[in-house]
Amino acid sequence: MAKLHPSNELIFRVAIPVPVYRLFDYLAPDNVELDNVKPGVRLEVPFGLGKKIAFLLEIAGHSELDASKLKRVVRILDHKPLLSAKDLRLLLWASDYYHHPLGEVISAAFPAGLRQGKPVAVQTEKHYALTDLGKATDSVQLQRTPKQKSVLEKFQSCPACLSEAELSIWNDNWRTAVKQLIAKQLLQIEVSDASVNRPEALVRDNALQCNPPQQSAIDAVCESLGQFGVFLLEGVTGSGKTEVYLQIIRTVLERGQQVLVLVPEITLTPQLEDRFRRRFAVNIALSHSKLTGKQRQTAWLQMQQGECSILLGTRSALFTPLKNPGLIILDEEHDASFKQQEGFRFSARDIAVVRGKLLHIPVLLGSATPSLESLHNVDKQRYQLLHLPDRAGSAIEPVLQLLDIRNKRIQEGLSEALIEEMHRTLAKNEQVLLFLNRRGFAPTLICHGCGWVARCQRCDANLVIHFDEECLRCHHCGKEERLMKQCPACKTGELTPLGLGTERVEKVLAELFADKITVRLDRDSTQRKGSLETYLLQINQGKVDIILGTQMLAKGHHFPNVTLVAILDVDSGLFSIDFHAAEKLAQMIVQVSGRAGRAEKPGKVIMQTRQPEHPLLTTLIKEGYRSFAKTALAERKDALLPPFSYQALLRVQASDVDTPPLFFQAVAALVQKLNTGHTQVLGPVSAPMARRAGLYRYQLLFQNTRRQELHVLLEVLIPEIAKLKQAKKVRWSLDVDPVDLY
Ligand code: ADP
Ligand code: ZN
Ligand code: ZN
Repeated sequence: MAKLHPSNELIFRVAIPVPVYRLFDYLAPDNVELDNVKPGVRLEVPFGLGKKIAFLLEIAGHSELDASKLKRVVRILDHKPLLSAKDLRLLLWASDYYHHPLGEVISAAFPAGLRQGKPVAVQTEKHYALTDLGKATDSVQLQRTPKQKSVLEKFQSCPACLSEAELSIWNDNWRTAVKQLIAKQLLQIEVSDASVNRPEALVRDNALQCNPPQQSAIDAVCESLGQFGVFLLEGVTGSGKTEVYLQIIRTVLERGQQVLVLVPEITLTPQLEDRFRRRFAVNIALSHSKLTGKQRQTAWLQMQQGECSILLGTRSALFTPLKNPGLIILDEEHDASFKQQEGFRFSARDIAVVRGKLLHIPVLLGSATPSLESLHNVDKQRYQLLHLPDRAGSAIEPVLQLLDIRNKRIQEGLSEALIEEMHRTLAKNEQVLLFLNRRGFAPTLICHGCGWVARCQRCDANLVIHFDEECLRCHHCGKEERLMKQCPACKTGELTPLGLGTERVEKVLAELFADKITVRLDRDSTQRKGSLETYLLQINQGKVDIILGTQMLAKGHHFPNVTLVAILDVDSGLFSIDFHAAEKLAQMIVQVSGRAGRAEKPGKVIMQTRQPEHPLLTTLIKEGYRSFAKTALAERKDALLPPFSYQALLRVQASDVDTPPLFFQAVAALVQKLNTGHTQVLGPVSAPMARRAGLYRYQLLFQNTRRQELHVLLEVLIPEIAKLKQAKKVRWSLDVDPVDLY
């Protein structure tokens, strides 16, 4: 029975960002008027030997604990909660659903500074724009001050004004040049006035004339504004999905509401941002990993206070509070980057849908290759399908074909037939795009004399050869070694690279197409800030003939002059043990194909394969993605795999092999006691990569065809696991709805 504190003191029940599955009680702070203290405010509380930032959940009259043991809240940090009551409910739901400690979930919704207890201060950023003189000035006149010239050109290339943050992303050293251009009256500081949300001032340039499918998609969503509904906008690359978003957004803005637009990290390109800024004269905030913590916090607060109307962001922007929420858009909804893979493992897509429901606003999911989950939700009539069947404007869809390379001569991954096709394309002054999803020179270094292979000592993986940097690198833990000249085992054998990476293909292209210009786009070649943008610009200016790259190429970027796309090695995607692999491969093929022939020129997509009769490939080519998805869903149904069942994966890592079995024994005993339903428990087994970064990895899979039953078990099981003494000796985590079984 709860004890009332002798002096009837009030109790603050708070969540603290620590891995503990319960709330904490504190005595209310002294000398504070409590009437206006609302759930959601940040607090500072004593914790252990130090202090922590906590979040108030409720004020109670009593505590289960002996009041004499309770400590007192040090101070209250916010006059008003920064999160709305509905957003707080969303986080409570997410904590329940993902079985993740509430304090950590709430904490994840805040930008870093606020999470650490910093005060709320919006630093409004300055925006700069061209003056009329600046618009009319030819940048050649600034020949002698190249810095100023390039800044002027930057402004002249974007129709809208630019903020400090945008300039910093473009180039670190812009301030002096901007100052000098202001002095020359070519630039001015833009006064952001109250006109921001006046309807007639919302739109800068004209919308395109929509085709009928686009129009009916726009109408369907607009009719649903002000109430919950989920729409799946399916349309191939170039079918005009973004145009549909823009026109719907316009209507939302006219209602005085805000829009949250989420995209995968690599598709948040300057081109996309530009398109938004060119269309809308409202304030637009950005949130993604290339921004500083301060910039992201500013974006967060500007949305919270209603100063910005549109937020373009990646997964972590999902929880940004909205003063007047109107619509959530999630583009490329199938993309795996919407799933957070560490810490609080959540699906931004699934939480976005729940958020829409709580806020009574529509959620619009878009993709050329919708996830099987979303298509299943359409079948179940939970989502409404909106379909754009054709490419918009005059663009023509590419032709896909399989190129059987069995018994054919191959030079570093390129078959003769492909090389010929490339020559034909280049002769017409059109561009070629080659896709290979493996960076580095080659994935394996082997000794021809004794068979020794360069392995990572901390992972179950080979070291990848990076010739350019003369090193061997592990792509799993980052460990690096100098590239040796001699076999460390036999000292005499010849070291031979095995397999194919982008660096290797780049070298052979330089020989075969000596008079052509190739750029390689992968994580290694684009590390320097701004280098990706530079390459993309060169490509679009036609200065490049051959584009070679990894999945970085698969999305977002538009290459109108590319008419030949080749996927060098589709087969490596056909033999994975993860049941998600087929779906991911099909999506990748369609996404890469989408790069071809976007303008008036028809495109061709060639896939080199040694499996020309593989049903996945033939279905995809002959009947398209939807047929593939239908087949794949039928297979999942037969096997009772998601979305026809629900999964949660318990992952365990330890630095030795002896502790995990003890942990799993204790877990098994708990499961025995608590699993009153029909949840299947599969494992424990070693993870597909059994060792990584020096840690041994195991997993235990929970599966049930009834979601509810699975969650009832997890709800009692996970807090008990957290209390196990064996759990202190391993690192463990739960992944609900895992998208990756590695
Ligand atoms: P997606 O987002 O599906 O890839 P976009 O909205 O980017 O498609 O449209 C692809 C191209 O087609 C863009 O250049 C866009 O300006 C153009 N476009 C879109 N809708 C129309 C339309 N109704 N009429 C003419 N061109 C259009
Ligand atoms: Zn490693
Ligand atoms: Zn050797």
